[in-house]
Amino acid sequence: MMRSFAEMLLRAAQGLSLDETLLLWESEESGGSSVGWLRDAMASRLADMERSVREAEEAHCRGRLIGDDGSLIGLYRERAAEPLSGPLVLRACQIALSVATYNAAMGRIVAAPTAGSCGILPGLLFGYEEVFGADRERLLGALIVAGGVGEIVARRATLAGAEGGCQAECGAAGAMGTAALVFLRGGSAEACVHGAALLLKSVLGLICDPVAGLVEVPCVKRNGLLTGLAVLAADMALAGVRSVIPPDEVIDAMGAVGRALPEAFRETARGGLAATPTGCSLRKALVGEVPPLDAEEVQLP
Ligand code: SF4
Repeated sequence: MMRSFAEMLLRAAQGLSLDETLLLWESEESGGSSVGWLRDAMASRLADMERSVREAEEAHCRGRLIGDDGSLIGLYRERAAEPLSGPLVLRACQIALSVATYNAAMGRIVAAPTAGSCGILPGLLFGYEEVFGADRERLLGALIVAGGVGEIVARRATLAGAEGGCQAECGAAGAMGTAALVFLRGGSAEACVHGAALLLKSVLGLICDPVAGLVEVPCVKRNGLLTGLAVLAADMALAGVRSVIPPDEVIDAMGAVGRALPEAFRETARGGLAATPTGCSLRKALVGEVPPLDAEEVQLP
């Protein structure tokens, strides 16, 4: 069963590239889907994702709480002579903000792995393609690698904010995107996996606290910011930095932390930023009275 990075690396050591290894593994487990069919299905997802980027950038959407931050980054990219972030980070952030805002405005996106974290992976994949150039097959391979990382996070822990907090959504998306970037740069399977672990370690415990229960604040900006962390985690992995804690154990720790999170920090919109005075008044203005916060819900068990 596709459940561990350790087995992924063992399989990848048998000579196939990481994306081919993952397709073969999935084909064996699915009990009938051929590698060709699976590759075509992923190519279709990649095309859907690309369409969501195009539509999101044309739409210039706003949410109920947020503005068109993707366009702000676009203007900044044109004006700033020497932005602090590099071209990939800024472009990936711009795409991520636009796609996540498009989701908030009910646009059609590819959940990767969830709707709340839908901007991170397209930001990194298509930002990379635009800044560095990548042929379609390589980009597809990177999406497959990202999918393999997400599958293992899902099977060992969770991808749901309601179960594991935002570490399970935006954190998982960042880990998937990091592995995809390492793959695009020609890094080893081991570097892909450790890059994913490095990112997840840095967001361990990230809570889910959507203001007014809308997937806008802090969700959309987290999408933008996680692209920057993913780029740096990928560079660290490519430089040879490795996680001291084995990647499978990092995922297990993430699952354990998620299970230990009080309910207030798991998509109930009753803790964290959602429970700030401003968060409460925004909720009151949008959806009515704020229910009283049960003090026990914010205590660690
Ligand atoms: S804060 Fe919660 S709803 Fe928002 S992206 Fe993170 S997990 Fe999803």
